[in-house]
Amino acid sequence: MLHTRTRSHITFLTAPVLEAIPGVVHAFSTRRPDPDDGFAAVAGMDGWPAVRLRQIHSDRVHWVAGGRLPDAPLEGDAAGTALPGVALGVRTADCVPVLIADRAGTVVAAAHAGWRGTAAGVVRRTVDRMASEWGVAAADLAAAVGPHIGVCCMEVGEDVVDRFDQPEVFVRRSEWPRPHLDLAAANRAQLVAAGVPADRVEVSTLCTRCRPDLFHSYRRDGKGAGRMLSLIGRAP
Ligand SMILES: [Zn+2]
Repeated sequence: MLHTRTRSHITFLTAPVLEAIPGVVHAFSTRRPDPDDGFAAVAGMDGWPAVRLRQIHSDRVHWVAGGRLPDAPLEGDAAGTALPGVALGVRTADCVPVLIADRAGTVVAAAHAGWRGTAAGVVRRTVDRMASEWGVAAADLAAAVGPHIGVCCMEVGEDVVDRFDQPEVFVRRSEWPRPHLDLAAANRAQLVAAGVPADRVEVSTLCTRCRPDLFHSYRRDGKGAGRMLSLIGRAP
């Protein structure tokens, strides 16, 4: 369960499992009529340079090391860094934002996982890269799965089922004409399979489509839907 907080009239969510890590700053935004609303400041990252992603529903993971930060958005769906004072962000409207840090607070990562990214295993790959690039054991990681479209609303076709190697994450009910995909269960299972302890994975139970008061939703609002922003970084 994530916590809902309000600061300077801006409502956002945080995960206790990440809040418990010294030096790690993070927040999941709710719906934002104005992208310049000061969310980064209330999240504790006022003025931090940000790594931007051009999200393409892939499993591509970027690592941002020393030197200049990239000027242009990086094409891919996850980013990680050990640099302090750098904000990593992903934008979502129904897709799953996943924020990850190690228990010492030395490495952080953010991932965007819609159904395509989830099928491609973007979260699993992010954990693997944290191990290979930074030598961080998955057993030392904690992760938060932010607000996303719930299994209640995530109806999919059989073509989507065929793209997954996780048949157990599809739910079929007599009142539903088609299967529904449990994106949270799929990403949680990938994190645990990659070695993240199950009790250090926290999952938002709020459905973006069911909660127009709190969230943007692509399925509900269509092409013009706004995006929520999820941020994580290391304090400088
Ligand atoms: Zn729903």
